[in-house]
Amino acid sequence: DIVVILSGMTVPGKYLRSSPITPGEIENLCTLASGIKVLGGPIRLGFSKEGGKGAKELGIDAEDTILAKSDIEAFVYDLFENGKLCDPEDISHRMRTVDEIGRWSKLGAFIIAQHPDYPHVMCEMETYRGCGRKVHCSFCTERFYGHSDHRPVADVIAEVSSLYDLGARNFRIGRQPDLLSYHAKDIGADVLQPSPDVLETLYSGIRKVAPELKVLHMDNTNPATMVAYPEQSLEILKTIVKYHTSGDIAALGIESADPAVVRANDLKIHPDDVFDVIEMINDVGSARGSSGLPELLPGLNFVHGLPGESKKTFELNYDLLKDVLDSGLLVRRINIRQVMAFPGTKVYGDDDLVYKHKKLFLKYKEKIRKEIDLPMLRKIVPIGTVLKDVMCELHDERSKHDLTFGRQFGSYPLLVGFPLDLPLGAFVDAAIVGHGQRSVKAIPFPLDVNSTPLQVIKEIPGLNAMDVSKIISGVPYANMDELVQKVALPENILEYLSVNP
Ligand code: SF4
Repeated sequence: DIVVILSGMTVPGKYLRSSPITPGEIENLCTLASGIKVLGGPIRLGFSKEGGKGAKELGIDAEDTILAKSDIEAFVYDLFENGKLCDPEDISHRMRTVDEIGRWSKLGAFIIAQHPDYPHVMCEMETYRGCGRKVHCSFCTERFYGHSDHRPVADVIAEVSSLYDLGARNFRIGRQPDLLSYHAKDIGADVLQPSPDVLETLYSGIRKVAPELKVLHMDNTNPATMVAYPEQSLEILKTIVKYHTSGDIAALGIESADPAVVRANDLKIHPDDVFDVIEMINDVGSARGSSGLPELLPGLNFVHGLPGESKKTFELNYDLLKDVLDSGLLVRRINIRQVMAFPGTKVYGDDDLVYKHKKLFLKYKEKIRKEIDLPMLRKIVPIGTVLKDVMCELHDERSKHDLTFGRQFGSYPLLVGFPLDLPLGAFVDAAIVGHGQRSVKAIPFPLDVNSTPLQVIKEIPGLNAMDVSKIISGVPYANMDELVQKVALPENILEYLSVNP
Protein backbone atom coordinates (compact mmCIF):
# COMPACT_ATOMS: atom_id res chain seq x y z
CA ASP A 1 0.00 0.00 0.00
CA ILE A 2 1.03 3.56 -0.52
CA VAL A 3 -0.17 6.75 1.14
CA VAL A 4 0.38 10.00 -0.77
CA ILE A 5 -0.06 13.31 1.05
CA LEU A 6 -0.19 16.49 -0.99
CA SER A 7 0.04 19.69 0.98
CA GLY A 8 1.54 23.11 1.52
CA MET A 9 1.14 26.64 0.28
CA THR A 10 3.50 29.23 -1.10
CA VAL A 11 1.12 32.12 -0.48
CA PRO A 12 -0.61 32.33 2.90
CA GLY A 13 -4.39 32.48 2.92
CA LYS A 14 -7.50 32.08 5.02
CA TYR A 15 -10.01 29.37 4.23
CA LEU A 16 -13.72 29.03 4.93
CA ARG A 17 -14.15 25.31 5.42
CA SER A 18 -10.68 23.92 5.76
CA SER A 19 -7.13 24.75 6.69
CA PRO A 20 -3.82 23.40 5.44
CA ILE A 21 -2.63 20.22 7.10
CA THR A 22 -0.36 20.73 10.13
CA PRO A 23 2.87 18.83 10.81
CA GLY A 24 1.10 17.12 13.76
CA GLU A 25 -1.67 15.85 11.48
CA ILE A 26 0.88 14.59 8.99
CA GLU A 27 2.62 12.72 11.79
CA ASN A 28 -0.65 11.16 12.91
CA LEU A 29 -1.57 10.05 9.40
CA CYS A 30 1.85 8.60 8.78
CA THR A 31 1.94 6.80 12.12
CA LEU A 32 -1.48 5.22 11.56
CA ALA A 33 -0.88 4.15 7.97
CA SER A 34 1.22 1.20 6.94
CA GLY A 35 3.20 0.78 3.72
CA ILE A 36 5.05 3.49 1.84
CA LYS A 37 4.23 7.06 2.78
CA VAL A 38 5.12 9.93 0.47
CA LEU A 39 4.66 13.57 1.31
CA GLY A 40 4.96 16.36 -1.25
CA GLY A 41 3.58 19.42 -2.96
CA PRO A 42 4.52 22.99 -1.99
CA ILE A 43 5.21 21.75 1.55
CA ARG A 44 8.56 20.50 0.28
CA LEU A 45 9.71 24.14 0.16
CA GLY A 46 9.00 24.65 3.85
CA PHE A 47 6.15 25.09 6.25
CA SER A 48 4.68 28.21 7.83
CA LYS A 49 1.30 28.75 9.42
CA GLU A 50 0.97 32.27 8.07
CA GLY A 51 2.60 35.08 6.11
CA GLY A 52 5.06 37.14 8.11
CA LYS A 53 6.78 34.02 9.37
CA GLY A 54 9.66 32.47 7.50
CA ALA A 55 8.93 29.01 6.18
CA LYS A 56 10.83 26.39 8.14
CA GLU A 57 11.96 23.04 6.94
CA LEU A 58 9.32 20.53 7.82
CA GLY A 59 10.54 18.70 10.89
CA ILE A 60 8.10 15.85 11.37
CA ASP A 61 8.61 12.87 13.56
CA ALA A 62 7.64 10.09 11.14
CA GLU A 63 10.80 8.27 10.22
CA ASP A 64 9.54 6.15 7.37
CA THR A 65 7.84 9.01 5.52
CA ILE A 66 9.58 10.14 2.37
CA LEU A 67 9.50 13.81 1.40
CA ALA A 68 9.37 14.13 -2.39
CA LYS A 69 11.91 16.89 -2.89
CA SER A 70 10.81 17.73 -6.40
CA ASP A 71 7.50 16.86 -8.14
CA ILE A 72 5.62 14.31 -6.05
CA GLU A 73 3.70 13.06 -9.10
CA ALA A 74 6.97 12.13 -10.82
CA PHE A 75 8.24 10.44 -7.66
CA VAL A 76 5.11 8.32 -7.26
CA TYR A 77 5.11 7.44 -10.97
CA ASP A 78 8.72 6.30 -10.79
CA LEU A 79 7.93 4.18 -7.73
CA PHE A 80 5.81 1.98 -9.97
CA GLU A 81 8.13 1.78 -12.95
CA ASN A 82 7.29 -1.22 -15.13
CA GLY A 83 4.25 -1.90 -12.96
CA LYS A 84 6.34 -3.05 -9.98
CA LEU A 85 6.75 -1.22 -6.71
CA CYS A 86 10.39 -0.09 -6.39
CA ASP A 87 12.43 0.74 -3.32
CA PRO A 88 11.79 4.44 -2.59
CA GLU A 89 15.47 4.87 -1.75
CA ASP A 90 16.31 4.11 -5.39
CA ILE A 91 14.02 6.80 -6.79
CA SER A 92 15.55 10.09 -7.82
CA HIS A 93 13.76 13.33 -7.10
CA ARG A 94 12.88 15.01 -10.38
CA MET A 95 10.46 17.40 -12.08
CA ARG A 96 7.83 15.93 -14.36
CA THR A 97 7.86 16.84 -18.03
CA VAL A 98 5.05 18.55 -19.95
CA ASP A 99 4.51 15.32 -21.89
CA GLU A 100 3.97 13.44 -18.66
CA ILE A 101 1.50 15.94 -17.26
CA GLY A 102 -0.31 15.77 -20.61
CA ARG A 103 -0.80 12.03 -20.19
CA TRP A 104 -1.33 11.90 -16.45
CA SER A 105 -3.86 14.72 -16.28
CA LYS A 106 -6.24 12.84 -18.56
CA LEU A 107 -5.68 9.45 -16.92
CA GLY A 108 -6.01 10.90 -13.43
CA ALA A 109 -9.08 13.06 -14.03
CA PHE A 110 -11.30 10.44 -12.35
CA ILE A 111 -9.97 11.57 -8.97
CA ILE A 112 -12.34 14.55 -8.88
CA ALA A 113 -15.16 12.13 -8.02
CA GLN A 114 -13.47 11.61 -4.63
CA HIS A 115 -13.84 15.28 -3.69
CA PRO A 116 -16.45 15.66 -0.92
CA ASP A 117 -18.29 18.34 -2.93
CA TYR A 118 -18.22 16.44 -6.24
CA PRO A 119 -19.50 17.34 -8.82
CA HIS A 120 -19.26 20.89 -7.47
CA VAL A 121 -15.54 21.21 -7.74
CA MET A 122 -13.26 23.88 -9.14
CA CYS A 123 -10.67 22.43 -11.52
CA GLU A 124 -7.41 24.36 -11.60
CA MET A 125 -5.74 24.13 -15.00
CA GLU A 126 -2.00 24.51 -15.45
CA THR A 127 -0.57 26.06 -18.58
CA TYR A 128 3.04 26.39 -17.48
CA ARG A 129 5.31 26.82 -14.50
CA GLY A 130 8.41 28.94 -14.05
CA CYS A 131 8.94 32.62 -14.65
CA GLY A 132 10.32 33.85 -17.97
CA ARG A 133 11.92 36.93 -16.37
CA LYS A 134 15.68 37.09 -16.50
CA VAL A 135 15.87 38.49 -12.94
CA HIS A 136 13.47 37.19 -10.31
CA CYS A 137 11.62 39.09 -7.60
CA SER A 138 13.40 38.61 -4.28
CA PHE A 139 10.61 36.70 -2.51
CA CYS A 140 9.26 34.56 -5.33
CA THR A 141 9.42 30.76 -5.32
CA GLU A 142 8.56 30.41 -9.01
CA ARG A 143 12.32 30.33 -9.73
CA PHE A 144 12.43 26.82 -8.28
CA TYR A 145 10.56 25.55 -11.36
CA GLY A 146 13.50 26.62 -13.52
CA HIS A 147 13.11 27.50 -17.17
CA SER A 148 9.40 27.85 -17.98
CA ASP A 149 8.07 24.90 -19.90
CA HIS A 150 4.70 25.54 -21.55
CA ARG A 151 2.13 22.79 -22.00
CA PRO A 152 0.81 22.36 -25.56
CA VAL A 153 -2.58 24.09 -25.91
CA ALA A 154 -4.14 20.84 -27.11
CA ASP A 155 -3.08 19.10 -23.87
CA VAL A 156 -4.75 21.70 -21.67
CA ILE A 157 -7.93 21.49 -23.74
CA ALA A 158 -7.85 17.68 -23.59
CA GLU A 159 -7.55 17.83 -19.80
CA VAL A 160 -10.59 20.12 -19.59
CA SER A 161 -12.44 17.70 -21.86
CA SER A 162 -11.64 14.71 -19.61
CA LEU A 163 -12.78 16.56 -16.50
CA TYR A 164 -15.90 17.85 -18.25
CA ASP A 165 -16.84 14.33 -19.32
CA LEU A 166 -16.66 13.36 -15.64
CA GLY A 167 -19.08 16.11 -14.66
CA ALA A 168 -16.79 19.06 -13.87
CA ARG A 169 -18.27 22.42 -14.83
CA ASN A 170 -16.01 24.93 -13.08
CA PHE A 171 -12.54 25.69 -14.37
CA ARG A 172 -9.82 28.16 -13.56
CA ILE A 173 -6.76 28.66 -15.72
CA GLY A 174 -4.82 29.37 -12.61
CA ARG A 175 -1.47 27.64 -12.58
CA GLN A 176 0.99 29.97 -14.21
CA PRO A 177 2.74 33.15 -13.07
CA ASP A 178 1.37 35.13 -16.03
CA LEU A 179 -1.48 33.93 -18.23
CA LEU A 180 -0.73 36.64 -20.80
CA SER A 181 2.71 35.10 -21.30
CA TYR A 182 1.44 31.62 -22.18
CA HIS A 183 3.60 30.59 -25.15
CA ALA A 184 5.00 34.13 -25.27
CA LYS A 185 8.07 34.82 -27.41
CA ASP A 186 11.50 35.63 -26.08
CA ILE A 187 12.61 38.62 -28.15
CA GLY A 188 15.52 39.39 -25.87
CA ALA A 189 13.72 41.83 -23.54
CA ASP A 190 13.17 41.32 -19.78
CA VAL A 191 9.50 40.62 -20.46
CA LEU A 192 8.31 38.03 -22.98
CA GLN A 193 6.11 39.12 -25.89
CA PRO A 194 2.56 37.72 -25.56
CA SER A 195 0.96 35.55 -28.26
CA PRO A 196 -2.73 36.56 -28.56
CA ASP A 197 -3.44 33.76 -31.09
CA VAL A 198 -2.47 31.12 -28.55
CA LEU A 199 -4.91 32.48 -25.96
CA GLU A 200 -7.66 32.60 -28.57
CA THR A 201 -7.00 28.93 -29.42
CA LEU A 202 -6.94 27.97 -25.76
CA TYR A 203 -10.13 29.74 -24.71
CA SER A 204 -12.16 28.89 -27.82
CA GLY A 205 -10.97 25.28 -27.57
CA ILE A 206 -12.07 25.01 -23.95
CA ARG A 207 -15.50 26.38 -24.84
CA LYS A 208 -15.78 23.84 -27.64
CA VAL A 209 -15.09 20.81 -25.45
CA ALA A 210 -16.98 22.18 -22.44
CA PRO A 211 -20.00 23.96 -23.95
CA GLU A 212 -22.08 23.91 -20.77
CA LEU A 213 -19.34 24.96 -18.37
CA LYS A 214 -20.47 27.24 -15.57
CA VAL A 215 -17.24 28.95 -14.63
CA LEU A 216 -14.14 29.75 -16.65
CA HIS A 217 -11.81 32.05 -14.75
CA MET A 218 -8.15 33.01 -14.72
CA ASP A 219 -5.66 33.91 -12.00
CA ASN A 220 -2.26 35.57 -12.13
CA THR A 221 -1.02 37.89 -14.75
CA ASN A 222 2.11 39.97 -14.77
CA PRO A 223 1.36 43.71 -14.96
CA ALA A 224 4.78 44.26 -16.53
CA THR A 225 3.60 42.33 -19.60
CA MET A 226 0.73 44.78 -20.03
CA VAL A 227 3.09 47.73 -19.68
CA ALA A 228 5.61 46.35 -22.17
CA TYR A 229 3.07 45.06 -24.73
CA PRO A 230 -0.20 46.99 -24.35
CA GLU A 231 -1.62 46.09 -27.78
CA GLN A 232 -1.15 42.34 -27.47
CA SER A 233 -2.28 42.42 -23.86
CA LEU A 234 -5.46 44.28 -24.74
CA GLU A 235 -6.23 41.75 -27.44
CA ILE A 236 -5.78 38.89 -24.97
CA LEU A 237 -7.96 40.58 -22.34
CA LYS A 238 -10.71 40.95 -24.95
CA THR A 239 -10.37 37.26 -25.82
CA ILE A 240 -10.69 36.33 -22.16
CA VAL A 241 -13.85 38.40 -21.74
CA LYS A 242 -15.29 36.90 -24.93
CA TYR A 243 -15.01 33.31 -23.70
CA HIS A 244 -14.85 33.38 -19.88
CA THR A 245 -17.63 33.72 -17.32
CA SER A 246 -18.16 36.93 -15.37
CA GLY A 247 -16.78 37.57 -11.90
CA ASP A 248 -13.30 36.89 -13.24
CA ILE A 249 -10.19 38.42 -11.65
CA ALA A 250 -6.79 39.17 -13.14
CA ALA A 251 -4.56 38.97 -10.06
CA LEU A 252 -1.67 41.40 -10.45
CA GLY A 253 1.50 41.20 -8.43
CA ILE A 254 2.01 44.91 -7.79
CA GLU A 255 3.87 44.14 -4.54
CA SER A 256 4.85 47.72 -3.68
CA ALA A 257 4.22 51.30 -4.71
CA ASP A 258 7.53 52.36 -3.20
CA PRO A 259 10.30 52.73 -5.83
CA ALA A 260 12.92 51.99 -3.15
CA VAL A 261 11.32 48.59 -2.45
CA VAL A 262 10.90 47.90 -6.16
CA ARG A 263 14.61 48.53 -6.71
CA ALA A 264 15.84 46.58 -3.70
CA ASN A 265 13.81 43.49 -4.63
CA ASP A 266 13.98 43.46 -8.43
CA LEU A 267 10.19 43.79 -8.55
CA LYS A 268 8.58 43.68 -11.94
CA ILE A 269 6.54 46.88 -12.24
CA HIS A 270 7.29 50.51 -11.50
CA PRO A 271 4.59 52.23 -9.41
CA ASP A 272 4.04 54.88 -12.13
CA ASP A 273 2.71 52.19 -14.48
CA VAL A 274 0.24 50.55 -12.13
CA PHE A 275 -2.61 52.93 -12.86
CA ASP A 276 -2.49 52.27 -16.62
CA VAL A 277 -2.74 48.53 -16.07
CA ILE A 278 -5.74 48.85 -13.75
CA GLU A 279 -7.37 51.15 -16.29
CA MET A 280 -6.77 48.74 -19.17
CA ILE A 281 -8.50 45.87 -17.34
CA ASN A 282 -11.39 48.12 -16.28
CA ASP A 283 -11.90 49.28 -19.88
CA VAL A 284 -12.32 45.70 -21.03
CA GLY A 285 -14.00 44.11 -18.03
CA SER A 286 -15.94 46.46 -15.77
CA ALA A 287 -19.38 45.85 -17.33
CA ARG A 288 -21.65 43.68 -15.14
CA GLY A 289 -22.06 40.12 -16.35
CA SER A 290 -24.65 37.40 -15.88
CA SER A 291 -23.20 36.18 -12.55
CA GLY A 292 -24.07 39.58 -11.06
CA LEU A 293 -20.41 40.63 -10.86
CA PRO A 294 -18.39 42.68 -13.33
CA GLU A 295 -16.88 40.61 -16.15
CA LEU A 296 -13.20 40.99 -15.31
CA LEU A 297 -11.56 43.20 -12.72
CA PRO A 298 -8.03 43.51 -11.44
CA GLY A 299 -6.99 42.05 -8.11
CA LEU A 300 -3.96 43.70 -6.53
CA ASN A 301 -1.35 41.87 -4.47
CA PHE A 302 0.98 43.73 -2.13
CA VAL A 303 3.84 42.24 -0.15
CA HIS A 304 5.24 43.85 2.99
CA GLY A 305 8.35 43.27 5.02
CA LEU A 306 10.65 43.32 1.99
CA PRO A 307 14.11 44.91 2.14
CA GLY A 308 13.97 48.66 1.50
CA GLU A 309 10.60 49.05 3.23
CA SER A 310 10.09 52.12 5.42
CA LYS A 311 7.17 53.99 6.95
CA LYS A 312 6.95 55.84 3.65
CA THR A 313 6.19 52.53 1.87
CA PHE A 314 2.93 52.19 3.79
CA GLU A 315 1.95 55.75 2.86
CA LEU A 316 2.78 55.24 -0.80
CA ASN A 317 0.77 52.01 -1.02
CA TYR A 318 -2.19 53.63 0.67
CA ASP A 319 -2.00 56.70 -1.59
CA LEU A 320 -1.98 54.53 -4.70
CA LEU A 321 -5.08 52.65 -3.58
CA LYS A 322 -6.84 55.85 -2.57
CA ASP A 323 -6.13 57.34 -6.01
CA VAL A 324 -7.58 54.24 -7.66
CA LEU A 325 -10.70 54.44 -5.51
CA ASP A 326 -11.18 58.17 -6.08
CA SER A 327 -10.70 57.80 -9.83
CA GLY A 328 -13.76 55.53 -10.09
CA LEU A 329 -11.77 52.52 -11.25
CA LEU A 330 -12.76 49.18 -9.80
CA VAL A 331 -10.55 46.67 -8.06
CA ARG A 332 -12.17 43.45 -6.98
CA ARG A 333 -9.66 42.29 -4.38
CA ILE A 334 -6.73 43.79 -2.53
CA ASN A 335 -4.47 41.19 -1.04
CA ILE A 336 -1.99 42.56 1.49
CA ARG A 337 0.38 40.20 3.19
CA GLN A 338 3.72 40.07 4.87
CA VAL A 339 6.33 38.08 3.08
CA MET A 340 6.68 34.39 3.82
CA ALA A 341 10.38 33.91 3.15
CA PHE A 342 11.35 30.54 1.73
CA PRO A 343 14.82 29.03 1.82
CA GLY A 344 16.53 29.60 -1.52
CA THR A 345 14.90 32.96 -2.24
CA LYS A 346 16.91 36.18 -2.10
CA VAL A 347 14.82 37.48 0.78
CA TYR A 348 15.37 34.42 2.99
CA GLY A 349 17.19 35.56 6.13
CA ASP A 350 16.67 39.20 5.14
CA ASP A 351 13.11 39.57 6.39
CA ASP A 352 13.66 41.39 9.73
CA LEU A 353 11.37 44.21 8.59
CA VAL A 354 8.46 41.78 8.87
CA TYR A 355 8.92 41.78 12.64
CA LYS A 356 10.00 45.41 12.96
CA HIS A 357 6.96 46.69 11.03
CA LYS A 358 4.39 44.20 12.36
CA LYS A 359 2.34 46.76 14.34
CA LEU A 360 2.52 49.30 11.57
CA PHE A 361 1.46 46.64 9.09
CA LEU A 362 -1.60 45.57 11.08
CA LYS A 363 -2.75 49.16 11.56
CA TYR A 364 -2.27 49.96 7.89
CA LYS A 365 -4.09 46.80 6.83
CA GLU A 366 -7.06 47.74 8.97
CA LYS A 367 -7.05 51.24 7.43
CA ILE A 368 -7.09 49.76 3.91
CA ARG A 369 -9.92 47.41 4.83
CA LYS A 370 -12.05 50.28 6.17
CA GLU A 371 -11.16 53.12 3.85
CA ILE A 372 -10.55 51.32 0.56
CA ASP A 373 -12.06 47.82 0.58
CA LEU A 374 -15.42 48.77 2.03
CA PRO A 375 -16.24 51.69 -0.31
CA MET A 376 -14.84 49.68 -3.23
CA LEU A 377 -17.10 46.75 -2.45
CA ARG A 378 -20.11 49.07 -2.28
CA LYS A 379 -19.32 50.17 -5.84
CA ILE A 380 -18.77 46.67 -7.18
CA VAL A 381 -21.92 45.14 -5.69
CA PRO A 382 -24.33 47.93 -4.70
CA ILE A 383 -27.33 47.16 -2.49
CA GLY A 384 -29.91 45.22 -4.49
CA THR A 385 -27.38 43.53 -6.82
CA VAL A 386 -28.24 39.87 -7.37
CA LEU A 387 -25.40 37.34 -7.32
CA LYS A 388 -26.31 34.11 -9.06
CA ASP A 389 -25.70 30.59 -7.78
CA VAL A 390 -24.17 31.08 -4.37
CA MET A 391 -23.37 27.71 -2.81
CA CYS A 392 -24.32 27.49 0.88
CA GLU A 393 -21.27 26.12 2.65
CA LEU A 394 -21.28 26.70 6.38
CA HIS A 395 -23.53 27.52 9.32
CA ASP A 396 -21.81 29.89 11.70
CA GLU A 397 -22.10 28.06 15.02
CA ARG A 398 -20.65 31.03 16.94
CA SER A 399 -23.41 33.40 15.85
CA LYS A 400 -26.40 33.93 18.18
CA HIS A 401 -28.65 34.25 15.14
CA ASP A 402 -29.07 32.06 12.10
CA LEU A 403 -26.20 32.71 9.73
CA THR A 404 -25.21 30.75 6.63
CA PHE A 405 -22.07 31.51 4.66
CA GLY A 406 -21.77 30.78 0.99
CA ARG A 407 -19.79 31.68 -2.09
CA GLN A 408 -20.17 31.62 -5.84
CA PHE A 409 -17.87 29.28 -7.68
CA GLY A 410 -15.03 31.32 -9.06
CA SER A 411 -11.70 32.93 -8.56
CA TYR A 412 -11.42 34.62 -5.14
CA PRO A 413 -15.19 34.48 -4.56
CA LEU A 414 -16.91 37.00 -2.36
CA LEU A 415 -18.02 35.71 1.01
CA VAL A 416 -21.80 35.98 1.31
CA GLY A 417 -23.58 35.83 4.69
CA PHE A 418 -27.32 35.02 4.78
CA PRO A 419 -29.17 35.79 8.05
CA LEU A 420 -30.99 32.47 7.67
CA ASP A 421 -30.44 28.80 8.24
CA LEU A 422 -30.14 27.62 4.63
CA PRO A 423 -29.51 24.01 3.61
CA LEU A 424 -25.83 23.32 3.08
CA GLY A 425 -24.94 22.44 -0.47
CA ALA A 426 -27.93 24.34 -1.87
CA PHE A 427 -27.39 26.94 -4.62
CA VAL A 428 -29.18 30.22 -3.96
CA ASP A 429 -29.35 33.53 -5.82
CA ALA A 430 -28.40 36.29 -3.39
CA ALA A 431 -29.67 39.88 -3.25
CA ILE A 432 -27.11 42.12 -1.55
CA VAL A 433 -28.45 44.00 1.48
CA GLY A 434 -25.27 45.05 3.28
CA HIS A 435 -21.48 45.25 3.08
CA GLY A 436 -18.63 44.19 5.31
CA GLN A 437 -15.02 45.04 4.57
CA ARG A 438 -14.49 41.89 2.53
CA SER A 439 -17.87 40.20 2.57
CA VAL A 440 -21.50 40.97 1.85
CA LYS A 441 -24.80 40.36 3.62
CA ALA A 442 -27.54 38.98 1.40
CA ILE A 443 -31.01 37.51 1.35
CA PRO A 444 -32.16 34.73 -0.97
CA PHE A 445 -33.54 36.04 -4.24
CA PRO A 446 -36.48 35.97 -4.56
CA LEU A 447 -37.49 35.74 -0.91
CA ASP A 448 -40.46 33.58 0.04
CA VAL A 449 -42.62 35.85 2.20
CA ASN A 450 -44.61 32.93 3.62
CA SER A 451 -41.65 31.25 5.30
CA THR A 452 -39.24 34.11 5.98
CA PRO A 453 -39.05 35.68 9.46
CA LEU A 454 -39.91 39.34 9.92
CA GLN A 455 -36.31 40.37 10.66
CA VAL A 456 -35.21 39.08 7.28
CA ILE A 457 -38.15 40.53 5.31
CA LYS A 458 -37.11 43.89 6.76
CA GLU A 459 -33.82 43.58 4.89
CA ILE A 460 -35.45 43.78 1.43
CA PRO A 461 -33.87 46.79 -0.27
CA GLY A 462 -36.20 49.81 -0.36
CA LEU A 463 -38.95 48.31 1.80
CA ASN A 464 -40.30 50.63 4.51
CA ALA A 465 -41.57 49.61 7.97
CA MET A 466 -45.25 50.04 7.03
CA ASP A 467 -44.91 47.74 4.02
CA VAL A 468 -43.16 45.16 6.18
CA SER A 469 -46.05 45.03 8.65
CA LYS A 470 -48.59 44.89 5.81
CA ILE A 471 -46.74 41.94 4.24
CA ILE A 472 -46.43 40.11 7.55
CA SER A 473 -50.07 40.62 8.52
CA GLY A 474 -51.24 38.96 5.28
CA VAL A 475 -49.10 35.78 5.62
CA PRO A 476 -49.72 33.10 4.35
CA TYR A 477 -50.43 34.07 0.76
CA ALA A 478 -51.76 31.58 -1.78
CA ASN A 479 -49.83 33.14 -4.65
CA MET A 480 -48.17 36.33 -5.88
CA ASP A 481 -51.49 37.72 -7.12
CA GLU A 482 -52.87 37.64 -3.60
CA LEU A 483 -49.77 39.40 -2.27
CA VAL A 484 -50.03 42.10 -4.93
CA GLN A 485 -53.73 42.54 -4.20
CA LYS A 486 -53.28 42.88 -0.44
CA VAL A 487 -50.12 44.99 -0.39
CA ALA A 488 -49.52 47.65 -2.99
CA LEU A 489 -45.80 47.39 -3.69
CA PRO A 490 -43.76 48.93 -6.49
CA GLU A 491 -42.31 46.66 -9.16
CA ASN A 492 -38.71 47.16 -7.97
CA ILE A 493 -39.67 45.67 -4.57
CA LEU A 494 -41.91 42.93 -5.92
CA GLU A 495 -39.02 41.49 -7.91
CA TYR A 496 -37.33 40.51 -4.62
CA LEU A 497 -40.39 38.58 -3.40
CA SER A 498 -41.91 35.21 -4.09
CA VAL A 499 -44.75 33.15 -2.61
CA ASN A 500 -44.39 29.44 -1.93
CA PRO A 501 -47.84 28.28 -0.82
S1 SF4 B 1 6.73 37.45 -8.80
FE1 SF4 B 1 6.11 37.06 -10.92
S2 SF4 B 1 7.55 38.27 -12.14
FE2 SF4 B 1 8.45 38.09 -10.10
S3 SF4 B 1 9.78 36.31 -10.24
FE3 SF4 B 1 7.81 35.61 -9.49
S4 SF4 B 1 6.69 34.94 -11.27
FE4 SF4 B 1 8.39 36.19 -11.98
